[in-house]
Amino acid sequence: MSKHFVPENLPDHIQHYIDGKFVDSIGRETFEVLDPVSNQTYATAASGQTEDVDLAVAAAKHAFKEGPWPKMLPRERSRVLHKIADIVESRDDELAYLESYDSGLPITQAKGQARRAAENFRFFADLIVGQEDNAFKVPGRQINYVNRKPIGVAALITPWNVPFMQESWKLAPALATGNTVVMKPASYTPLSAALWPEIFREAGVPEGVFNLIFGSGGVAGDYLVKHPDVPIVSFTGDSSTGATISTAAAPQFKSLSLELGGKSPAVVFADADIEAALDATVFGVFSLNGERCTAGSRVLVQRDIYDDFVARFAERAKNIVVGLPSDPATEVGSLVHPNHFDKVMSYIEIGKSEGRLLAGGGRPDGFPTGNYVAPTVFADVAPDARIFQEEIFGPVVAITPFNTDEEALELANNTKYGLAAYVWTTNLKRAHNFAHAIESGMVWLNSNNVRDLRTPFGGVKASGLGREGGYRSVDFYTTQQSVQITLNESHSPKFGVEASRETGDA
Ligand code: NDP
Repeated sequence: MSKHFVPENLPDHIQHYIDGKFVDSIGRETFEVLDPVSNQTYATAASGQTEDVDLAVAAAKHAFKEGPWPKMLPRERSRVLHKIADIVESRDDELAYLESYDSGLPITQAKGQARRAAENFRFFADLIVGQEDNAFKVPGRQINYVNRKPIGVAALITPWNVPFMQESWKLAPALATGNTVVMKPASYTPLSAALWPEIFREAGVPEGVFNLIFGSGGVAGDYLVKHPDVPIVSFTGDSSTGATISTAAAPQFKSLSLELGGKSPAVVFADADIEAALDATVFGVFSLNGERCTAGSRVLVQRDIYDDFVARFAERAKNIVVGLPSDPATEVGSLVHPNHFDKVMSYIEIGKSEGRLLAGGGRPDGFPTGNYVAPTVFADVAPDARIFQEEIFGPVVAITPFNTDEEALELANNTKYGLAAYVWTTNLKRAHNFAHAIESGMVWLNSNNVRDLRTPFGGVKASGLGREGGYRSVDFYTTQQSVQITLNESHSPKFGVEASRETGDA
């Protein structure tokens, strides 16, 4: 095995970025950051408290009220966003190595995520230039139009699984539409987030437009969500945290977007292209270490092909290359943190009494330390099993057989989640009818998760609230004021005219 790779430019301390300056918390509070291969502390990060969040929100509010950013022409903001994308692309190797070091993601997959981050900026840079809004004409009487406006300070709260890409997915539309932001990244993975300030500075984002606060979700995150000067909250993370944030934001009627957990089904019918389905379902649950919200973590397979499919799936899982995140040959790296490792391992123990263990089931051979989990396959899992119902967020799959379309649909919809679904069949009618009946925000037919950035992204049920992606993101980060103009005389009923005649008033 190659040696644990430590990036040269690793900081030993990570600071907030408020109003164009790198700063520590006022009270000097910090937290420790581990690398997931050695589980040793490699840096400390500033731990934001309420007074630090106050400063960040004040800077963002000032930049919104007084600064040039919200008033700039879309083309001008677009140029800055394209510059951000250029810089991300030019640094994608460095960025991917830092991300991989901090999160345990395999380096090849981290590189792909870095490119996606750049693409998110390019996409929204283009979208705002081409943006059009409605005008409505009532012939001879009225013209009405939509005046789209940025809203103000956006709170962006992000998870640790693909941190830099997740952050870009919120930052790009929030900034493109003219808002200012305070971002609170996940505490397990602050390293790549710490690169944004330099990137934004170099690209020409004015001071105060982007502010970054590290720290605990329960302290900095909670206070940010409740802050009266923050009208928009975009959150990606666990469903239970989403519920807490929803409650915290409700009294102030904030605009809220929640992208939450999933337990997505991949349904394989006997008439499917089995090779393609096998490639996609194995990749779908084990890529990104299984730490993927849209992972196809329940594979439902039609009985006629079940035994063969399951055997081949397990064989593939056993052959997956587990290794150092920095090794280009690695397919599954190290889970992000020892706490998350313990959670995934506890589900594997639960699974041993809920399903037939066909691959994995613990640490892979040759990895006595670090947060490594062998790709794990449980077959014959009943729908009431915890490993069928609960999100594990690791390289663990539950496989279940079905006989009929009806049974497959019932199984597919039998969880509290509804984020993604994958359907494998060559029958066109079945594919569409099945897709329409599935309770999920997104469905891929005969494909793994290939994103078209114009399409809505989000879930139903416990998987979230609202949609981002394409114009839905623009809608979320803007308010649409309708302006009505009368073209002829105004036609108001003459209230009070009769009464004033009777009393002699004019
Ligand atoms: P968490 O919900 O634990 O944390 C997400 C973010 O919220 C972190 O920055 C966290 O801070 C912060 N946070 C925690 N509590 C609060 C609070 N009370 N108020 C405000 N902010 C808070 O999720 P994870 O980071 O563990 O991410 C994994 C989860 O994210 C999985 O369930 C996964 O399904 C989901 N996810 C969903 C995606 C989607 O698009 N639907 C995409 C990717 C992941 P801190 O780190 O300090 O705890």
